[in-house]
Amino acid sequence: MLTYYSDDHHLHHGKCELIDGQLMPCFEKPQRADHILARVKQRQLGEVRAPKDFGLAPIERIHSQAYLQFFQGAWTRWQEQGGKGDLLPFTWPARTLRRMIPNDLHGQLGYYSFDGGAPITAGTWQAAYSAAQVALSAQAEIANGAHSAFALCRPPGHHAAADVMGGYCYLNNAAIATQAFLDQGCKKVAILDVDYHHGNGTQDIFYPRSDVLFASIHGDPAEEFPFFLGYADELGEGEGKGCNFNYPLPMGSSWEAWSAALEQACQRIGEYGAEVLVVSLGVDTYMDDPISQFKLDSPDYLAMGRRIAALGLPTLFIMEGGYAVEAIGVNAVNVLEGFEGA
Ligand SMILES: [Zn+2]
Repeated sequence: MLTYYSDDHHLHHGKCELIDGQLMPCFEKPQRADHILARVKQRQLGEVRAPKDFGLAPIERIHSQAYLQFFQGAWTRWQEQGGKGDLLPFTWPARTLRRMIPNDLHGQLGYYSFDGGAPITAGTWQAAYSAAQVALSAQAEIANGAHSAFALCRPPGHHAAADVMGGYCYLNNAAIATQAFLDQGCKKVAILDVDYHHGNGTQDIFYPRSDVLFASIHGDPAEEFPFFLGYADELGEGEGKGCNFNYPLPMGSSWEAWSAALEQACQRIGEYGAEVLVVSLGVDTYMDDPISQFKLDSPDYLAMGRRIAALGLPTLFIMEGGYAVEAIGVNAVNVLEGFEGA
């Protein structure tokens, strides 16, 4: 399996995030992708290639121009104001406030984000842009006939909506690649999100549409981030009704419960008649993940890959979360090897 990867991810390294009342070093750090890349090479999964540059046009198919302009220019504005440290939002247009775009940088940052978990640093735009190109390059491989490809994206993308960043995510790599398939003539694409957290951005982007089926297995949002989306009764709206399936599971769920949900999701994907599958590959379902509460073990990821392969679809794997840094490489590559060995 070909892997696409860009060293540009190192340009994004947030200093801290607020967890349990304390400012902690960001769990979403460059070593994550370094460990996965090392494991890809160690296991000789296949060639590792640098991405091509497809420009902004395919990104603009998902994200609004106003959002992209804001994101691209935010760090420079922050520096012009004498900003010290990472640029982090602290006010959001919640229920009792007006949803409007103020002039101030922090006001705009609040408008374009949903939490304080997506710090903007000097290199964040370039890293996120390159991650989108990694996804698009792997997408092009499959469009040109490959049965599978791995986009080793960092930063991840599935929490980012059309004009909202959050949860370590800025540009929705999976959505951008999915839209590229559709724009190139595919009629139906399925997205399977196996990250521990609900892919709220991806769901929101495709919620009213019938050309994308979104299925996500994740920690119950009643108990777990992102809290405000990802419930089982969210089935899509309008033409998209019946094209959105959430499988929230209780904290502590192990492979037995997780794989039963995967079976249901795969049945939905099979019935839908997708031509291509995009997998939002998060491995923060791992038992030792520092911020998550499922109990999957490393061999389970091989079984996950085998079940996904049984769908018989050309499959694009896009890296999302996973924070047990020592194990993230083993678990991510186990999914890919399980897929290939099936
Ligand atoms: Zn996650």
